Amino acid sequence: MNPTAIELAFFLRKQARKNLKLLAGYCTFLALMILGYAYLFQYLMWHLERRTYSLIAGIYWTITVMTTLGFGDITFHSDAGFLFATAVTISGVVFLLMLLPFVLVSLFIAPWIEQSMRFRPKRELPANTRGHVLIFGPDAVTRAFMRKLEGRQVPFVVVTPDQEEAFRLELEGMRVLCGTPTDGVFLEKARAGAARGIVTSLNDPETVNLCLTARKLGDAPIAVLADDSAHADLLRAAGATHVIPLPQILGRHLATRATTFGAAAHVLDAFGNLLIAEMPVYGTPYVGQTLGMIPLRERTGLSAIGLLERGVFSAPDPDSPLSVQTIVLLAGTREGMSSLEALLRPGAGEDRVFILGHGRIGCAAATVLGKMNVPFTLIDREENPFCSAHEAIRGDATRLDLLRKSGIEAARGLIITTNDDNANIFLALASRRANPHLRMVARANREENVDELYAAGADFVVSSSSVGANFLSNMLEKKDSILLTEGVNVFRRPLPPRLSGWTIAESSIGAMTGCAVVAILREDVPEPMVGPPPDTVLDTRMDFVLIGSPEQERRFGEAFA
Ligand code: AMP
Ligand code: ZN
Repeated sequence: MNPTAIELAFFLRKQARKNLKLLAGYCTFLALMILGYAYLFQYLMWHLERRTYSLIAGIYWTITVMTTLGFGDITFHSDAGFLFATAVTISGVVFLLMLLPFVLVSLFIAPWIEQSMRFRPKRELPANTRGHVLIFGPDAVTRAFMRKLEGRQVPFVVVTPDQEEAFRLELEGMRVLCGTPTDGVFLEKARAGAARGIVTSLNDPETVNLCLTARKLGDAPIAVLADDSAHADLLRAAGATHVIPLPQILGRHLATRATTFGAAAHVLDAFGNLLIAEMPVYGTPYVGQTLGMIPLRERTGLSAIGLLERGVFSAPDPDSPLSVQTIVLLAGTREGMSSLEALLRPGAGEDRVFILGHGRIGCAAATVLGKMNVPFTLIDREENPFCSAHEAIRGDATRLDLLRKSGIEAARGLIITTNDDNANIFLALASRRANPHLRMVARANREENVDELYAAGADFVVSSSSVGANFLSNMLEKKDSILLTEGVNVFRRPLPPRLSGWTIAESSIGAMTGCAVVAILREDVPEPMVGPPPDTVLDTRMDFVLIGSPEQERRFGEAFA
């Protein structure tokens, strides 16, 4: 572990921050004392010995005397002057040479040494611990998941075998247990049997061992972020309840958004019979019109639940202008989607999607497009040793001449999925310039590059951490949530009992949480109620489907829990 990181973390903690303030106060006091002595020095020199010195000379004299350096280049020649110099020396010894180191040691160094010596990682949770989530292998995905758990006030414990990592995680404010994930005795002490769920991003062999050990203790659901989808069966056989092949999921997310072939309204996901879809305005007769001019409700029964413009979400408004870059988010039934397709695109034209990067995610995207009968072209600088199904053009995708030669100008869709975010941003910018109407989707390897990819021109960006975190919380919390784009989710929640008997307008869900009601589902009614009118009376047999940011989703949980 990097020792400076620990020190920095230590200095940023609450108590240490208070101590820093005390130190700053003490230093200000010293500075004022030096300045006071310097003025007094000037005054005495003139009144006792008729000599003039600048303020800088006064400060210089004070500091050399206080630190007992005393160069002797400026000295008093009178008894009163000697007395003053003696007083300055004594106060220097007391305040600068004795008290300052004492303050530093007692406020910082001693607590720091004490803390690191006293740090004994916890190896056991209290016997009555229940309902916690155990997280093995803190990485970008599990950290994004932890932020979700924090937002929903679900207790979680991070497990690591490494004592130094445990110390660092604890300084970050997490509840940490130190122990070997595959050790049955340790798992018992981590109360794995009573956990609400176990989440692991360890490597697959370690995970198999962990699952087998944890299964002996109880039947808490185990969600696994798998390295390789080919291990899914093994992991399930070992006891994993949910295996999440992240590359395949990301590939599917990218593929479904890169083409509109065969389906003007593009289904992203579903809550039972309620489908959530996207409709790019590009290529439809509605470019340049407003949302209110699409006869959605009358002709298709679908409801517009939002608009996306280069990843920026806005609530639906009949006056919202539709440009070639606008994507309309829709909710409705399968029949509604078919009516829209008939309305918009009687004959789908030639579609071709370019996939830059034929790694695990690019290969998964190609497989999905293949199933949809969408023609695609793959480019990668290396051969994919695990794929024999696809033929890829070999070469560096950032070489624009190669892209041109491969025919990228004729592409309707582009999936940018190399494992290098700089290359992805570069490719997004270059492709957008070359083809303003391209449907461009990109993968962010690090969450902090999502905004840059949108700025470079991507229509849709996904990062593995947000997709993974969404999947994990769906599984463990038995709540449904669909990620539409980074920062916008559609989620399903049971109707809060206290709203029963109220109308949607009276419930003030929008005003309190910022979420909007997309649809109402009822178990006994197969047809979803899409875009329910504000005077709909609520009852407890209903489930809400809402749209909002993760923050608004959290607010809904808090307001109606
Ligand atoms: P994966 O993370 O498994 O999806 O793999 C990412 C893929 O991107 C690998 O197969 C890399 O060879 C590929 N890749 C990375 N940079 C480039 C590039 N500049 N041009 C083409 N392919 C790339
Ligand atoms: Zn492949």
